[in-house]
Amino acid sequence: MDEALQRSLTSASAAVVDARRQARSPAAQVRAEQAASEQILLYGDLRDVSELLSRWDVQPELKNDPVLGVERKLLQAAKAAAEGQHFAAARLLLPLQKGLPAAADDVLRWRVKLVAATNASELGQSEEATRALTEAIQEAARMGWADREALAWVALGKLQELLRDYAEALRCHQQALKVVPAWAVQTKAYALLGEAQMRNALGQRKEALALLAQPEALFADSGHDKGTADLLLIKGYVLRMLDRHKEAIAPLNQAFEIRARLGRLADQVNSLTHLASVTRDMKDFEPATAYARRAVALAEATDNRFLLWDASYCLATSLSGLGQHAAAYDAMLKASRALKEASKFEQIHQSALIRERFETDRQTLENAHLQDRLAWEQGEQQRLSGLICAMAALLMLLVLSVAALVYLYRHTRRHARTDGLTGLYNRLHTLERCEAEVARAHRHALPLAVLMFDLDLFKRINDEHGHATGDRVLQEVARHVRGALRVADTAGRVGGEEFLLVLPHTGAQAAWQLAERLRVLLAAQVQVVPGWPVTASFGVALLQPGQGAAALMQQADQALYRAKARGRNRAEMAEGSLDGPALGAADGPLMPAGA
Ligand code: GH3
Ligand code: MG
Ligand code: MG
Repeated sequence: MDEALQRSLTSASAAVVDARRQARSPAAQVRAEQAASEQILLYGDLRDVSELLSRWDVQPELKNDPVLGVERKLLQAAKAAAEGQHFAAARLLLPLQKGLPAAADDVLRWRVKLVAATNASELGQSEEATRALTEAIQEAARMGWADREALAWVALGKLQELLRDYAEALRCHQQALKVVPAWAVQTKAYALLGEAQMRNALGQRKEALALLAQPEALFADSGHDKGTADLLLIKGYVLRMLDRHKEAIAPLNQAFEIRARLGRLADQVNSLTHLASVTRDMKDFEPATAYARRAVALAEATDNRFLLWDASYCLATSLSGLGQHAAAYDAMLKASRALKEASKFEQIHQSALIRERFETDRQTLENAHLQDRLAWEQGEQQRLSGLICAMAALLMLLVLSVAALVYLYRHTRRHARTDGLTGLYNRLHTLERCEAEVARAHRHALPLAVLMFDLDLFKRINDEHGHATGDRVLQEVARHVRGALRVADTAGRVGGEEFLLVLPHTGAQAAWQLAERLRVLLAAQVQVVPGWPVTASFGVALLQPGQGAAALMQQADQALYRAKARGRNRAEMAEGSLDGPALGAADGPLMPAGA
């Protein structure tokens, strides 16, 4: 809470009301509600807790706000502590001590620490509480939060009082008074009250009584009911110690009434027990018994067995004063039972709390371990999927490159092997094929024939009908040649209008028949220029034992030359091909691919 806000918090929650009214944004609204929560915690007036929490419940943005979630737990813990249920409070505070939402600021963290330390000191966990409070004091001093530093000094003073080190407690309250700023009226009043209490405990009762005047005025001016009630109780107690019993009754009664109004059950029992003790000391056993009975009844409603023990003990002594010894005995039994239960209760809760703490620690550790493991696995997974992606991309690239290469290879090979005009094999490939077939025929002792032919007087077609017409004639001739061949045969264009056919497993007769057939076919079928038959002259040669491809082709060429010389449009057999011992015996039938 900022200084301006706390300064104006002298009486009612006017500043909080104003802050709420002025809050425009959800963030400002949350801040205003947080201020209301801190105010309740600071002044200990728990009447407003239920109202505040139900306010938050009806607004989703307040209900689900993580910071107000922390405030809610703090308020619930303070309420439980005020009802004497410090174990329940500890349970509410435990998760907050382990970790706060990201939105929590340093102040909230500090406040959680203070509330938890105060509760821990009530639970007898004094070492832990001392450590936490010392830290809180140092942190507040470092941050320049003078009011909070004073508050933590007061809390440390209370702890020292519980430890019965009254001199140290006195020093703490005096330290609080040294640092407290003038505007932090409530804190100052509590520090003064603490000092008075410790002086009383140290036997300086008159000084104590004199010291109470100042905080009494401060509490009254700021309308701080709880503070007033706390002060009146102490005043009654000091008066009782000063043997001014009669004067003690009024402040004790007032304290009880205020506390009843504030709904602080444990404080009420405490006030009634004090009243019972004072009246009993005055030998006024009737009212003492009445106060004690009320105290016992209320204490039974709490689960604080120490309160019940205190009240029952008081009832027993009062009853015994009245001479009701049987009833006194019963009350005493109740008291001792309460004490037994209290220690059992404390044992159970202490061990439950220790177990819970252990569990949370273990869970925190396990969570951290799991988080680490998860992060590691996620990292691994990311690395792996990155690798897989990269590999997939590489693989795809590879496949694409191979496909491109295969395509290029096929494309270039086709273009490297074929003749662009006719689609037949080109000269180079035809000669290669011829050499390969010659080698194969020799290896397996199979017959092989070649057939060379040249179009007759082709120059004239070009001259008289143009080059394009000549090209068309060449294409037509190729088409007919292809149609007349077997799958195993090779047909190639080896010159301008000169063709070579390589015919594996073909004897002289079949080769000769093919030459004749082609000659007749071309003359009859190639009709590019009407009335202008296309004829060709053929030379046929058969592979001889030990003969090479070049020699074989030369023989065919010579036969072709002879056909030209003998008048064209005819076929000639190479010398020695018909009568010579051709390779192999077979002279298989001619089987045109198209047949
Ligand atoms: P022959 O062979 O009967 O003695 O007479 P020819 O007219 O065919 O004689 P030659 O071999 O001298 O002529 C070949 C002609 O073929 C020459 C050239 O104009 C032509 N020629 C060569 N290649 C092509 C071609 O790719 N397209 C066309 N249209 N003509 C070609
Ligand atoms: Mg020619
Ligand atoms: Mg020629």
